[in-house]
Amino acid sequence: MCAAKKGDLSPSEKELFDVITTGNVQEASRLLGCKDVRVNCLDEYGMTPLMHAAYKGKADMCKLLLRHGADVNCNHHEHGYTALMFAGLSGKTDITWMMLDAGAETDVVNSVGRTAAQMAAFVGQHDCVTVINNFFSRARLDYYTKAQGLEKEPKLPPKLAGPLHKIIMSTNLNPVKMVLLVKENPLLASPSALDKCRRVMELICEKCMKQRDMNEVLAMKMHYISCVLAKCVSFLNERDDQLDGLVKSLLKGRDSDGFPVYQEKFIRECVRKFPYCDATLLQQLVRSIAPVSIGNDPTALSVLTQAITGQVGFMDAEFCTTCGDKGAQKRCSICKMVTYCGQACQKLHWFTHKKVCKKLEEQREEHQAQSNQVTEESEAVDEASESMKQLHVDANSQTASAHQ
Ligand SMILES: [Zn+2]
Ligand SMILES: [Zn+2]
Repeated sequence: MCAAKKGDLSPSEKELFDVITTGNVQEASRLLGCKDVRVNCLDEYGMTPLMHAAYKGKADMCKLLLRHGADVNCNHHEHGYTALMFAGLSGKTDITWMMLDAGAETDVVNSVGRTAAQMAAFVGQHDCVTVINNFFSRARLDYYTKAQGLEKEPKLPPKLAGPLHKIIMSTNLNPVKMVLLVKENPLLASPSALDKCRRVMELICEKCMKQRDMNEVLAMKMHYISCVLAKCVSFLNERDDQLDGLVKSLLKGRDSDGFPVYQEKFIRECVRKFPYCDATLLQQLVRSIAPVSIGNDPTALSVLTQAITGQVGFMDAEFCTTCGDKGAQKRCSICKMVTYCGQACQKLHWFTHKKVCKKLEEQREEHQAQSNQVTEESEAVDEASESMKQLHVDANSQTASAHQ
């Protein structure tokens, strides 16, 4: 679609590039209506208006250009950069998402052999890396909602595609969160529906591993989701308390420190069961997880999350102790040692947290007392050195006056 020659611009096209820089969407819209403006025209470096808008982080401008038929996969840039690469470099997750949603290819490499995700990682835009690595278009999932070849019915009933896609797109891999997502949608609440979803996840996992441009990250994610769904099916079949029992099992902490042992073992088992033993990612995960004794850092969840979403410093921000959602603000009012995204999550966790809450509170108080003592001591030291200085000054002034 990029038949335009580099740098061969009409006056209005030149104007369009200027307008993109200033961010005047209205004016850009007017220019795009002109006869002598091609939406995929190229500047002297082979950059399209969309590339410019993405690089400058102008979301509204990107939207406008895409609406006017901008080719998201145009690849005439002198160094092989795509609009998705520019979006990743800009650090804007919404624009990165927009490019992907418009059909941007993720495996194209530039002249130094880097993909968009690698470029974004290279400049430290980790949120964009997360978005790229976890993107799985609805269209790719919808393929399974149509009967293929001799099939009488599709592998995935069309009504399940929406809720399943929501689970696939989640960058929070906490199994509690996934079970809650399953629970919140009545369409997914039956073992047979979940089993269909699980099988589709396995098929996609296989496809990711066998396609020419193998995608181990996405394969691992699909496999992991299929494991969580399989667990849901087994709980739905065997237990009366539906998925609440599974959530409880995943949250239950051990007596000594409240560490959720079942959850840790479950995630380790999921990783181990990845069907492609030779995969580099699998070996890397096993190497990081296997030597850690249960209860120590890093947890299997943090290792898996980092490998799949590219999130670094996973533990820096406040995460909900129950579901793992980012930006949790509520603290347990007694121990102040655990955080939650809201009351629902705090309630879910209380059955197990109450056993260690008191202990955590004592630990915190002890810790605080210790650090207070340290401050007092250092203040005392400060006072001492202050009076030493004073003595010194006095002595000096005495000597000075003695000399006079
Ligand atoms: Zn939560
Ligand atoms: Zn507490």
